[in-house]
Amino acid sequence: MLTLASGMSRLGTETAFDVLAKANALAAQGADMINLGIGQPDFPTPPHIVDAGIKALRDGHHGYTPANGIPPLREAVSRDLHRRHGVEIDPARIVVVPGGKVTMFFAMLMFGEPGAEIIYPDPGFPIYRSAIDFTGAKAVPLPLREENGFAFSAEELLSLITPRTRLIIINSPANPTGGVTPVEEMDKLVAGLANHPAVAIMSDEIYSCMLYDGRQHRSILTYPEMADRAIMLDGWSKTYAMTGWRAGFAVWPEALAEKATRLAINDHSCVNAATQYACIAALDGPQDAAIAMVQAFDERRRATVDALNALPGVSCIEPGGAFYAFPNISKTGKSAKQMQNDLIEQAHVATIAGTSFGAYGEGYLRVSYANSKENILKAIDRIGDYLAG
Ligand code: PLP
Repeated sequence: MLTLASGMSRLGTETAFDVLAKANALAAQGADMINLGIGQPDFPTPPHIVDAGIKALRDGHHGYTPANGIPPLREAVSRDLHRRHGVEIDPARIVVVPGGKVTMFFAMLMFGEPGAEIIYPDPGFPIYRSAIDFTGAKAVPLPLREENGFAFSAEELLSLITPRTRLIIINSPANPTGGVTPVEEMDKLVAGLANHPAVAIMSDEIYSCMLYDGRQHRSILTYPEMADRAIMLDGWSKTYAMTGWRAGFAVWPEALAEKATRLAINDHSCVNAATQYACIAALDGPQDAAIAMVQAFDERRRATVDALNALPGVSCIEPGGAFYAFPNISKTGKSAKQMQNDLIEQAHVATIAGTSFGAYGEGYLRVSYANSKENILKAIDRIGDYLAG
């Protein structure tokens, strides 16, 4: 009998990958599956970005790179942050990693251990909770409620801080709800954190380019008073339809960038060189494909919300960002998990139970609208048939 480290038994997972496997297995048996479970754009990476990756390989970029990312890429990220958030960020504070998730794990490894507390959004991206549990720290859920548009209440968040709190995690626009934190709530949080100088914050802003109806995003980077304790997570996966390239970055406090780089050296050495050149092309090149993608998501968002609201027992508030709707299904009399399983097996529609994102997700389903409008409407029709069934 092998003896594994105790953290292994506490490691969670991302149900989206299980649902995808189940949907693919049913499709392989001939089922006409529609996948609204997936968390990635259904668009290809724009061709000029693909070309830059191919060119990098042809130009001989086959070797290791600096662990924190090649300097021209970190400079391009710094320019992009200036364009989007109006901030001046020293490229030395930027650490490029293979995907947004890696920054998450690094932050948890840096702050989490038995005795420590980390506050995380619930419902929220499941890897936050999983990584906190892995370290042995206590995971403290921050409830996100429908009546608040699934934004956190700064007052409630601040009330959860104890002398053991080391890190708080926020995410806007949010997975799985599409909720967007209003700027005033961010201001209140930052003002309140002045009373808790030993608490760090990780702001997951991976969907910050996907906002609708003129909603505003205020990056944690725009608060100079947070510069020595804020980690800003972002990346290329969602904005440029690059999930499989594996590239993300974070801006770390000056004192932590070197530690994050050390974790990178221990973990993966560097992001593959060709991907890094593709990422430069993504940031410096034309943005029209990325903008067109958001416009398409916006159109589908409206269609998704309208169709969901027409279903019996289902209500869905308008998501302000990302590409997820989070309909309330509590009046259907089904639990989230039961409905997820029934929909896959009986309606051949993949969605994700709200409980996959935390206990506060009971009574909700995550519906990704990263699929064609035609497929989305067909899938929601099938959900209607199932509910009428
Ligand atoms: N953060 C959030 C909120 C996400 O939803 C995701 C992916 O689904 C990530 C981070 C991770 O992205 P990546 O694929 O770049 O690791």
